[in-house]
Formats: sequence, structure tokens, C-alpha cells
Amino acid sequence: MKISNASINFNESGTPVASAFDDVYFSNESGIHETQFVFIDSNHLNERWLKTTQSSFHIGETGFGTGLNFLVAAQQFMSFRKNNPTSPLNQLYFFSTEKFPLTALDLRKALTLWPELSILSDALIKQYPMALPGLHRIHLFDNQVILDLWLGDATEGFSHAHAHNEGRIDAWFLDGFAPSKNDSMWQPALFNQIKRLSKNHATFATFTAAGAVKRGLRDAGFTVDKQKGFGKKREMLIGNLTLTEDEKISPRQAPINHRHTSISMPHTSTKQHVAIVGGGIAAAICALKLIRAGKKVSLYCADDKLAQGASGNEQGGFYPQLNAEAGIASQIHAHSFLYARQFYEQLLSEGHFFEHQWCGVLQLCFNENVTSRYQNMMRNQTWPQALVEWLEPEQASTIANIQIPTPGLHLPLGGWLSPPSLVEACINAAGGDDLSIYVSHRLQNIVTAENKTQLIFTCAKNSAINPASENIKTEADVVVLACGAESHLLQDLDLPFRMTRGQVERIPSNSSISPLSTVLCHKGYMTPAHQNHHAMGSTYVKNDLNTEYRESEAELNLNMHQQALDGASWSHDLVLNKSLNESNSNHAAVDNDPRGRAAIRCSLPDHLPVVGAFPLVETQKVELNELYKAKADNYYPTPSVQPNVYLLTGLGSRGLTTAPLMAEILVSQLCSAPLPLDKRLLNALNTNRFLIRDLIRRHNLVT
Ligand SMILES: Cc1cc2nc3c(=O)[nH]c(=O)nc-3n(C[C@H](O)[C@H](O)[C@H](O)COP(=O)(O)OP(=O)(O)OC[C@H]3O[C@@H](n4cnc5c(N)ncnc54)[C@H](O)[C@@H]3O)c2cc1C
Repeated sequence: MKISNASINFNESGTPVASAFDDVYFSNESGIHETQFVFIDSNHLNERWLKTTQSSFHIGETGFGTGLNFLVAAQQFMSFRKNNPTSPLNQLYFFSTEKFPLTALDLRKALTLWPELSILSDALIKQYPMALPGLHRIHLFDNQVILDLWLGDATEGFSHAHAHNEGRIDAWFLDGFAPSKNDSMWQPALFNQIKRLSKNHATFATFTAAGAVKRGLRDAGFTVDKQKGFGKKREMLIGNLTLTEDEKISPRQAPINHRHTSISMPHTSTKQHVAIVGGGIAAAICALKLIRAGKKVSLYCADDKLAQGASGNEQGGFYPQLNAEAGIASQIHAHSFLYARQFYEQLLSEGHFFEHQWCGVLQLCFNENVTSRYQNMMRNQTWPQALVEWLEPEQASTIANIQIPTPGLHLPLGGWLSPPSLVEACINAAGGDDLSIYVSHRLQNIVTAENKTQLIFTCAKNSAINPASENIKTEADVVVLACGAESHLLQDLDLPFRMTRGQVERIPSNSSISPLSTVLCHKGYMTPAHQNHHAMGSTYVKNDLNTEYRESEAELNLNMHQQALDGASWSHDLVLNKSLNESNSNHAAVDNDPRGRAAIRCSLPDHLPVVGAFPLVETQKVELNELYKAKADNYYPTPSVQPNVYLLTGLGSRGLTTAPLMAEILVSQLCSAPLPLDKRLLNALNTNRFLIRDLIRRHNLVT
């Protein structure tokens, strides 16, 4: 599961050479021309872009290397867009794989050879991922170019990649080190996965004419032709794939994990209309992504303002939940974290400010169990050092700018941010004619009839003065339910939600604690001062839906922090805010109670969010009743869902880390776009995963 960066050297002409393969990444006299000839022209990209009626084009590649092919393709695509502004084609997806990624430093050095690509390469280098195995999604140039970069083995990456039923890739760039130097990549298993991911009429081009490649592609079903190679090279291969009628309709992965895309309703005019029900970070980020995907969005929130639920706390810690083993849940967290950081940076760079500090997070070794877990993690080198590193107490004290009594883990990319401020920034970024916001609208029911989805809301007419309410009926093409802790109230939604009350204190800063310059985490967390106060949280009370502030829980929070930080003299200077009269901030939290705030987290037993189509659980129980028989994947049908109704909830206690990637998954899914995580991680987020587990174990059977 671990990967290492490529070990490279630069030859006398400055060309990068991979030490392990004793091969150059490109020729620095003709690299760009070679890419143009072998991959762009031989796949006839420009002609196809001019003729296409698709809104997106999808390239698949083996061997990302220095990203030269990607940069040349992206540059051509951007100039195609400039010259053809009315073309329906407005997005390029580029899915590539790299087992030995260059370090960002080597990448920068290698790409200086191509000053003509500098605008693109600077944008790539800025977001180039650390060596964390798995799929990384990078959005470039206002989403016109999307790079999905799999770090790891190519065959593994392709076999884990999700594809909708029509396939994923229009054109393949089969690059990488030559079969004579990298025989292990060019194997039948790779070619079979290339076929699985291909759309009907996908093409390929490759610099090599090696017999094994020719036979492998032919055996997988491609036509294979030779043509003159680039420059002095005698031959190269090109070809395409025509799927049989059966292949066109056969699913690209196990039907039980099918991710339903949204169905265009017959009455849909130009823009699909999506109703989002919710008002927290899940709803706001989803609204922004949907607007950017060209949808019309109506956001309905039960409260009289947005960000009044769990997303109403003034400050929240931003960090992933990492374990000593890189299990599925930890991988989801690690990828969510890196994606979220990129998403937040993008929002800020567009001028949509929200209160935050990227001040890093210190996870303290506050007891023996935790210490040995963290030590194992470091010993196993489970995660890249750029993500998490070990600090001794003195180093931790330097980072925190305050005495830290224990060793700990440092996550330099973490920090804190203000959820209400983030919600506001997303809404501002999404704002315009295509976004409508309706507060004091509580969803009561959804009815799907005659190809329409109707939503019925109770709407408080004027909740403060006149508590009377009326029912309002409205329609949408697609519905996204992002209802946080009220998800369990949604009609017919049978999922094992767990509600946990939490209270976070807003304690006054003082001279002992004001120097704190990073987020401290143990059982709870404490942030650096913001507006002269620190957030100090939080309690966990299962099945308690009351959100009143409790002094008893404030004492619990204080004791928890003083115990975990015992040994730091300043921990005794932590004091609770007893004053009820202060009101010096605009945030919802302070409007309510300056001492702190309580809200309800919504989570699931496996601590992962649920993202996907609304499952018709009773119908699925019948459809999947024989799952325990472990028949072949295609034996079981695609499970039934409520058409065009989706869920985005269960963000638990790490919503600030997971919400952006979860929203990206959902928006990609309902737009039939490629999904930004691999199948194993996606399946762990499925809305019917608990039912599937039960049925495999023969629980919940229909008799
Ligand atoms: C005390 C506490 C501390 C936390 N600390 C952190 C932290 O440090 N870091 C971190 O990452 N996460 C933290 N979390 C978790 C984080 O706050 C949540 O994961 C996140 O805010 C959830 O966002 P959401 O949009 O899913 O839900 P919410 O913010 O709860 O939003 C749900 C929205 O749905 C609306 N709604 C519900 N039902 C209906 C309906 N029927 N009709 C219309 N609207 C409806 C509600 O009005 C609300 O606006 C904390 C949570 C708590 C409670």
C-alpha cells in the first residue's frame, strides 16, 4: 500500500532520468512534439473535440511521469475552448497513474525545461499531491480541466477505478517506461482493465510497437494497427475498441454497489433543478459544487438562518482521523483531508474569505494506549511524513509556542476554521441567479409521481411573532438531503444513524494561553485564540438531542483538558466563561450563548458518512436476499433506489475534513461524471452498505 517517490537524476542536458529504469522521462529536444505526434494527433483529439456533442472528454494514461502529456493535452484543450467558445465540450478529465511519483521539487525542476507550459505547470505543481497512495482529484482552470491521479500500480489503479455503465475513457495514452525496461506493467491484466474502463469507440495510441503490447490489446478486444513512429522510431501502435451489444449494457462493476446517476426528466428544460434540504456545511458545499456544475439550486433550511445545526460552532478543528494501519476508513479520511485543504485554498484564492488558520494540529500522546498507537503508526511509516510527523515534547512546544508536556503527532496541513463563516463563503461563491435560499422551510415529505419529484415543506410564516405555519409544495428534478442530525426523521429512511450531543466551550484567552499557535488534540481539542477566545471541546453524550448549554458539561470539558495536559503549568489557567452578557461577535454561536454551544452530531456505526442514492431498503431486502450465497457479482440485480433523491449526511465529528470530498462524490455521481475515489472507498460510503453487510451475514433476511 505504501509508495515511494521516484529516485531520479538529471543528465547533462537537464533531462530527468529514472534511476530504477535507466530511462529518460522525455527527450528535451522533442518531448512536446513527441507527445503531440504520438498521443494527441494519433488519437485525433482535435478533430474529435470539434465534432463531439459530449460536454466532457476523458483521457486515460499509464505513466504520469513529469505530467508532460497531461500538460500538453490540457494546453490544447484550453486553446480549443478559447477558439470554440460555443462548443458543448467544456471539460477535460485526465485519469493517470504513477507508481513512483516525482517529488514536487523534482517535478518543478523537470518542468522548467518547458517554459511554454509554465502557466499550466505552475498550476499543477501548486496542487501536486504528496506520495499518498490512491486517487487524488485536482481541479484546474475553473474546473475546465480535472486531473485524477492514481498514485500506485497502474493495473491496481485501473481495477479499483469506478466507471459508470457507459465506461469512463474516450482516448488512451499508453505511456510509461518501455516494455523492455518495465515488463511488469504491460501485462494482460492491465489491458483487460483498460477495456473495462473504455467507452464504446475508445481509441488508444502508444509509442511502443512491442509484440506483448500488440497481443495484449488485441486479446482485450482492441483493433491494433501499426503506424510510423515519432522521429527516428520505426513504428508505434494505434487502435480502437468497438463494444458488442452485450458489452455495451453489461455493468462495469458489481451491480450491488451501483452508483445511480440522476435521470433527466422529460420536462427538464435547459438546466437541471436540484433542491438541497439542509443548511450546514454539507448543504452549502454541495450547493456551490452543483452551481459550478451548471445546475440551478434551491436550498431549503428548517432553521431561520443557515448554519444553526452542528455547523454553527464558532471554530472547529481541521484534521483527519488516521490509524496505525491504512484501513479503508483512514484512507477516506486522509484523501478527504488533502482534498478539503485544496478546496478551501481554492475558495480563499477566489476571494471568498472565511475565518480560519492553517496553523497545524498537534495530536498529543495523552495516555499509554495512544502513545503506542502513534508509535506504531510512525514505525510502520503508514502515512507520508508530509501528512504526519512525530514530535518530541520540546519540538511540540516550539510548534505550539507554549509548553507541551508529551510527545505527539504533528499534522502541518491542519488547523481550524469557522463552519458558519465557511457556509457563508460557499453561499457567496455560489450566489447568483441560479441559487435560491429558503429558510424556515422544514421538509415533511417527498413524493415521486409521474416523473416529477415533489417536496412538501412546513414553512414558518413568521416564527418569532406568529408561530403559525403553512404547507408549501414545490418540485425539483433532483433532491439532495443534507439534514445532519435530523436525517433520522426523514420518511422511509432506514439507516442506523447515531445521534450524539456535543458541547464546546468558548473560553476567554489570557496571558498563559494566548501564545498557543496550533490546534491541540487529545480526547478533545483546543484552538488558538480567535477574537480573544479559544474553542475547547467537546463532550459526547449518546442519544441526547437537547441542545441547551449545560454547566455540568462545561466542567467535564475543563477537567478533560486539565487531565490530558497535566504537566503543562498553563493548563491550570484554563477558565470557563461564566459571563452571559457578552456579545462581541457576529457568529451564531455567540448570538446564542457566549459561554459555548451544544449541537448534535450525526454519525453511523462505522464512523463514515453516507453519500449516494436514497435506498429503498424494503425492496432491496428482497432483491438482495440471497447475498449470503456469495454468487458471482452479476447474479444480483442493481438495488432499487428512490429515483433522483440523494443523501449526503453522517459527517459525524469530522465534517470539516470530509464534507468537500463527499460533496464532490455526490455531485459527480448525479452528473454522471467520473468519481473522485476508488471503488473500495466508494463502497464504504454507500447508502446500502449496512443492509449489504446484514444480508451477507444472513441478518435481516426476508423469509
Ligand atoms: C460539539 C461539536 C463539535 C464539533 N467539532 C468538530 C471539529 O472540531 N471538527 C470537525 O471537522 N467537525 C466537528 N464537528 C462535526 C461537524 O460540526 C459536523 O460534522 C458538520 O457540521 C455536519 O454538517 P451537516 O451540514 O451535515 O449538518 P448540520 O450542520 O447539522 O446541518 C443540518 C442542516 O439541515 C437542516 N435540516 C434538518 N432537517 C431538515 C428538514 N427536514 N428540512 C429542512 N432542513 C432541515 C438543519 O436546519 C441544518 O441547517 C463537531 C460537532 C459538534 C456537535
